[in-house]
Amino acid sequence: MQIPILSPAYAHLPKTLYANLPPTQWNETSLLALNETLSKQLGLSIEALADHARKLLTGRETGHGAAPLAMAYSGHQFGHYAGRLGDGRAMLIGDVIAPDGQRHELHLKGSGLTPYSRGGDGKATLGSAVREYLISEAMAGLGVPTSRSLAIVTTGETLQRQTPSPGAILTRTARSHIRVGTFQYAAENLDVQTIQTLADFAIERLDPDLSSLGDERYSKFLTRVATRQADLIAQWMSFGFIHGVMNTDNMALSGETIDYGPCAFMDDFHPAKVFSSIDYYGRYAWNKQAEIGLWNLSRLAETMLPLFGKNEEAQLKTAEAALKGYPTQFKTAWTNAMSRKLALPEGQHDDFISGTLTAFMTGKVDFTRVFTALTRHVESTDAHGVTSEFATPAEGETWLAAWRDLTGGRTAISERAKARMRASNPIRIARNHLVEAAITDAEAGDRQAFDALNNALANPFDEDSRFEAFEAAPSSGEIVHETFCGT
Ligand code: AMP
Ligand code: MG
Repeated sequence: MQIPILSPAYAHLPKTLYANLPPTQWNETSLLALNETLSKQLGLSIEALADHARKLLTGRETGHGAAPLAMAYSGHQFGHYAGRLGDGRAMLIGDVIAPDGQRHELHLKGSGLTPYSRGGDGKATLGSAVREYLISEAMAGLGVPTSRSLAIVTTGETLQRQTPSPGAILTRTARSHIRVGTFQYAAENLDVQTIQTLADFAIERLDPDLSSLGDERYSKFLTRVATRQADLIAQWMSFGFIHGVMNTDNMALSGETIDYGPCAFMDDFHPAKVFSSIDYYGRYAWNKQAEIGLWNLSRLAETMLPLFGKNEEAQLKTAEAALKGYPTQFKTAWTNAMSRKLALPEGQHDDFISGTLTAFMTGKVDFTRVFTALTRHVESTDAHGVTSEFATPAEGETWLAAWRDLTGGRTAISERAKARMRASNPIRIARNHLVEAAITDAEAGDRQAFDALNNALANPFDEDSRFEAFEAAPSSGEIVHETFCGT
């Protein structure tokens, strides 16, 4: 059966931006997971995919004859410029145009050595593939822009990591894998013509309505990227998500969440929460993400300066103007999200929102369960669920009284506001301890927990008694305090 995979449009860019790769041979591959829902959305037949799994989803074939490619990019890691990084264990195998006309890139992760592998082996552990699959699909379930996970194939290899780990290849899709770091690479190593070609390519892919404009299209594009990023980070934060490695090489211009490493959804709320074992100084803490987003965008703006006019002063002015709206964009998106979650009336409620976060922190509430309890309180009558989420019920009573003062209480909440609450407060998230348990089982050859968690997270806003077990916060013995890149 033919699979409608096209050679990647990225291959039409100057060859200085990527490296073509020979096909990789694997012997013992086996298909662990295939995402049927996503296959359908992409217009890929599941039978055809399964048929080709061993060859296509491991990089031995691309489905269109042309060679796969590894993208070159650079990046700032934890604030320090690291120079050239690139797809060291990943490759772009092709594009798919979905029935709705949207183009998606098919990317393999863990597919072997590339010219950008540096000291690494180009491979990925099954644990990291399962982690990315579960969390990226959970993000999609939440309606947050993200790369998607199409499949996991195990390679039959044992990789030497902290402990010996089974190897796997994840197939992911995204509208575009162009990162801030892609522009940094071009700006540092290539000529202005190539930066412009890359920018035009990105505009055509992500914001085609800007293509026909004159030179102002570049600054307008930068503003679009910034707007997407502000909206994305506000959504992450509203669900308690911490990306964990917001290096410039891990930020996509498409506004999709990419490169899931030591990311996590927090259980107990703390604004300075960090999970990543390598984020020693809390650079990428939950409450730092919006600021880091702007820092990364400023690095992007620097690479685009030559496209902003002839003299330096005008270039800087244009860059500044393009990013000027970011703080307001973020603040509005964040405030709107919190207002929906809490069913707040029209108007400015900054004080109430910041007071809520303080109360949630001192009350050690679970950042998912407390909103679920409030939603259920509004839909029924039971307020006990809300107050019992706080370390002491008295703290809960105090907060709830303030919420009632502002909103008028449950009977004053309109049907529309209730519906918005329901659609903003997930009942189930990809909790760390559940993800870890699924990984442990998958490593032992049992994928039941992986399947069950995936099912539970597909429609996270819907009440569903079948998935009640997934609502619980971790017991003290189950709490995961630290997450790892697991590369
Ligand atoms: P990350 O922060 O995980 O997105 O990765 C940062 C850089 O390290 C990227 O250039 C990756 O391609 C590269 N990298 C991570 N793991 C490996 C590996 N096992 N082999 C080669 N390169 C890797
Ligand atoms: Mg990365």
